[in-house]
Amino acid sequence: MERLTFGFESFKKDVYEKKPELFSQLAQGQSPKYMVFACSDSRVCPSVVLGFQPGEAFIVRNIAAMVPPYCQKRYSGAGAAIEYAVLHLKVENIVVIGHSCCGGIKGLMSIKDDGTTTTDFIEEWVKVCLPAKEKVQGEFASLAFAEQCTECEKAAVKVSLENLKTYPFVKDAVEKGSLRLIGAHYDFVNGKFEIW
Ligand SMILES: [Zn+2]
Repeated sequence: MERLTFGFESFKKDVYEKKPELFSQLAQGQSPKYMVFACSDSRVCPSVVLGFQPGEAFIVRNIAAMVPPYCQKRYSGAGAAIEYAVLHLKVENIVVIGHSCCGGIKGLMSIKDDGTTTTDFIEEWVKVCLPAKEKVQGEFASLAFAEQCTECEKAAVKVSLENLKTYPFVKDAVEKGSLRLIGAHYDFVNGKFEIW
């Protein structure tokens, strides 16, 4: 509780009270140019890594920064966020950011070949990017497991970018040229940010 109270007091003094114009503008509404999918991992907060200010980025964080395909029944949480970002906020970019040492990707790469799982939710969720695992196992069979995981971190971003196009409003906006889909990989071991 003290940590939270102190944290907000610092933010209020150092940020909120120093930018009255920004915060009075944000009180009227938001118009972020970016939607970001990032991992829930405590080391990869996009506002810290990319310096997003309040109002700049509409962010979804989940295990392994995955975007599931369009499915109203299974993935309404992700779908609602994408729909709101694209149709109401009219973001200009959707960025999917994978990262180094991702436990979710390691979990995906560790699922047994017969598909049996031992967790209630985690493995079922990361199976969203199962095509990435299959691609890596096919193309990088000779690599060590850790290196395969690194490849899968990037391949999973590509699967997510393809999944984004299964949302009709995303596909339409991309075709009209009003929305760009961007893939990225943040490597906090070597301090690198790759973008494509
Ligand atoms: Zn992760």
